[in-house]
Amino acid sequence: MHLTIAWLYGSKMNIYGDRGNVLALTQRARWRGIGVDVVEIGIGQPIPPNVGVFFFGGGQDQEQIAVSNDLRGAKGAAIKAAVEDGAALLAVCGGYQLLGHEYRPHDAAPLPGIGLFDLVSEAGPERFIGNVVVETERWGTLVGFENHSGLTVLGPGVAPLGRVRVGRGNNGHDGTEGAVYRRAVGCYLHGALLPKNPALADWLLAGGLERHHGPLELPPLDDRYEVAAHASAVGRAERTR
Ligand code: GLN
Repeated sequence: MHLTIAWLYGSKMNIYGDRGNVLALTQRARWRGIGVDVVEIGIGQPIPPNVGVFFFGGGQDQEQIAVSNDLRGAKGAAIKAAVEDGAALLAVCGGYQLLGHEYRPHDAAPLPGIGLFDLVSEAGPERFIGNVVVETERWGTLVGFENHSGLTVLGPGVAPLGRVRVGRGNNGHDGTEGAVYRRAVGCYLHGALLPKNPALADWLLAGGLERHHGPLELPPLDDRYEVAAHASAVGRAERTR
């Protein structure tokens, strides 16, 4: 089997360790003998036809303005079509915000999103910074780190990733964090997220492979270190809440 990972705007949208998500997906595939290509998709570059998993990291408002312009039209439509066709996707913070309908920064005109996720985000008066623990039905607890002023409100066309146990999440008042639509996940969890959350990493990996290879079961990996890192991060988040 072979997997193509499309790293959206890797040089512009890559803060708080987000590139670790690409490394985790790549390594968890290679440990299983799966061939992986990572294709960085910069401004002006097209979306390749055979993407299994998209990764879209975080970035400050200035980077988001440049990237939002590039996503308009065919490029954003190609990402949406790929997800509708079964591709997996992880978007974090600034990337997450641009995959909704709109992101309204502090000091700039509203930025149109591609409308993959039924949500809207707006920069708020407070910056949410700290460890986050999220309770989910599908993957157990997820742990990460948030640093955003954006407040995200979900519409009826998307499900929350989970409920916030520690931290502020989507907006600090409705108790939700992140969004899930088909095999696409958006969230505010930097860290990087996937190295410490192997169940979510494998869910994305399996989805990306199934788009082109059909239903499959990934053989288990020895996740003792990932599980220990997860438990340590959850314990630290609980102690500092
Ligand atoms: N500029 C956005 C915000 O502050 C996203 C920041 C980020 O990606 N960490 O909400």
